[in-house]
Amino acid sequence: MKHIPKKNLGQNFLKTNSIVKRIIESANLSADDFVIEVGPGEGVLTEELAKKAGKVLAIEIDHTLIKPLQKKFENKKNVEIINADILKINLPELLGHEMSKYKVIANLPYYITSPIIRLFLETETPPQEMILMVQKEVAERIVASPSEIPAESRSAKRISRGKPGQMSILAVSVQYYAKPEILFEVGKENFDPIPEVDSAVIKITNSECGIPNAETKKFFRVVKAGFSAKRKTLINNLSSSLHLEKKAVEEKIKAVGLKPTARAQELSVDDWEKITVLLI
Ligand code: SAM
Repeated sequence: MKHIPKKNLGQNFLKTNSIVKRIIESANLSADDFVIEVGPGEGVLTEELAKKAGKVLAIEIDHTLIKPLQKKFENKKNVEIINADILKINLPELLGHEMSKYKVIANLPYYITSPIIRLFLETETPPQEMILMVQKEVAERIVASPSEIPAESRSAKRISRGKPGQMSILAVSVQYYAKPEILFEVGKENFDPIPEVDSAVIKITNSECGIPNAETKKFFRVVKAGFSAKRKTLINNLSSSLHLEKKAVEEKIKAVGLKPTARAQELSVDDWEKITVLLI
């Protein structure tokens, strides 16, 4: 019986083989690779992953897709299908001790893009890399770059190719832990059913251990305060959200080399780190 796609689970299945191939090529897979696939759906990507990777662990929430998937891969010893919600998975437990090296490759369910990315970044054992299909607009937001900041003042790891001056909490969160880049764009006509938005494949590499510690918590407290009201300046947002004197905030902002009129969207991860140290 033909599966009826569930909109509420973000089920837009990839139907263009050349796109599947490009995703697989981007991942540079070998028999040593252990891959986690989020949302295998009907298994188009899983099938190609299984040809290249040593092991594929595919986690699918929709129980009606599990039997067809198990059938499709019954002769493939390197594919394991798990019926679970990726956001309720205990990642360290799933990975076990010996599986600390792995890649995440997925055409993501778009309604939970950010929590999925966070799950794999804010962990003791982040993946070697993630190759993810996401909504194009979200991809652009993730790789956004700050404006008016000389490139040489930023560490190589954090330079991205996004639109300048469009930083968001999402961009800061990803770029704090890793280096994101857009690999290629994918038109909506490549999916069935056709979604309302175009997509893009992104690659996230260089992730550091992301277990939130006291320092990280402080960092994100300041970032959230800075972004609290979109149209307000950084000084206004920081002073009102963190209950600090405006004058004191202004001095610290200047000390970091930023203009008093700066807005949160213009700050790099390095700027946020410097401000955090000075402010709280
Ligand atoms: N990989 C397939 C493809 O490329 O055609 C399907 C991709 S589709 C965009 C997203 C898949 O994620 C769907 O199969 C959906 O059921 C699954 N999914 C949605 N929410 C999920 C969750 N919380 N945990 C695991 N899988 C989920």
